[in-house]
Amino acid sequence: MNEQKNIFVTQPYLPPLDEFYPFLEKIWGNKWLTNNGEYHKEFEKALCEYLGVNHISLFANGTLAIITALQAMRITGEVITTPFSFVATTHSLWWNGIKPVFVDIDPVSYNIDPNKIEAAITPKTTAILPVHVYGKPCNTEKIQEIADIYGLKVIYDACHAFGVEKNGQSILNFGNMSILSFHATKVFTTFEGGAIVCNDESTKKRIDFLKNFGFADETTVVAPGINAKMNEFQAAFGLLQLNHIDKAIRMRQDVAEIYNEKLKNCVGVTLPAEVPGLRHTYPYYPILVNKEKFGLSRNQLFEKLKESNVFTRRYFYPLISQFPAYRGLESSKPDNLPVATSIAEEVLCLPMYPNLSVDEINLICNLITNN
Ligand SMILES: *Cc1c(COP(=O)(O)O)cnc(C)c1O
Repeated sequence: MNEQKNIFVTQPYLPPLDEFYPFLEKIWGNKWLTNNGEYHKEFEKALCEYLGVNHISLFANGTLAIITALQAMRITGEVITTPFSFVATTHSLWWNGIKPVFVDIDPVSYNIDPNKIEAAITPKTTAILPVHVYGKPCNTEKIQEIADIYGLKVIYDACHAFGVEKNGQSILNFGNMSILSFHATKVFTTFEGGAIVCNDESTKKRIDFLKNFGFADETTVVAPGINAKMNEFQAAFGLLQLNHIDKAIRMRQDVAEIYNEKLKNCVGVTLPAEVPGLRHTYPYYPILVNKEKFGLSRNQLFEKLKESNVFTRRYFYPLISQFPAYRGLESSKPDNLPVATSIAEEVLCLPMYPNLSVDEINLICNLITNN
């Protein structure tokens, strides 16, 4: 039998190693390793320009960035959020002593369903924490409308939304803040890393204090901050990565196009919905597998692909609301979350990364269509 090499769901797109040496030499020369160094400042500026946003504050990772964003806005009480995301979204509320209130998702975008938000608001609600799942924009207009009526803050978990634009505009400028992750598995990576995008300078200043223990200057500590700083190594790598990111995104778009073409007639498989006017960066390629029409359940297809060394991921299953810390909440009941519950049972993320070859995509698609 032919030994098929492992194909994982993701693989980082790394720049040529020799391009990184000059950055390292400069760090070795300066001997300034962290705490708002040269590369840190340069990377913040370059990112603002690339992403088309006003202010960015870099972080050690995305989770600390969400936790700090909630601190910076003094969010307390209850926050409305989605169960269909990576656990860090809700964990960030927990680490702030905030009660998550889960609201069901939209069956097409997989994002929080704005029509169900109002029913979840109580006198304790202070904010909404939606996620641009798989980089597809939330219904930002409707969410802002509700937030304005009820006086709520909106913080977007935009960890999937690096470089996503709608009608030529960054989707990171909606709400009070947006959070990015530069983890190794994301479209844009600094190994570990993250950022908060915000609109005004005074907010950025407060965020910068909070991520550095609350220090405003040598002797002034304005709040019980945390250590969530990005170091010079990460910032330098990020700057280098920026030179390559447009190509990497184009390669992802090419992969998606082949999947779209090869799988479009596959009965029982729903492909990701097209969004008009979107610069989609394809952090994931999620399909839905309908057992009745397809013949295999999602889990059966997952196992079948695994037997051929194709390692897909069931993002997002189980729902966050099903984990022990959260399943006792009233809003976690499956009756409250029918759409999310059904999609979590059917979703499968196929391998998606810039260097996935045409042969590999063909192999994956043949395994799916020949069953
Ligand atoms: C990756 C991710 C995070 C966490 O980011 P880290 O940088 O890994 O801490 C949070 N939310 C979502 C939706 C993510 O995909």
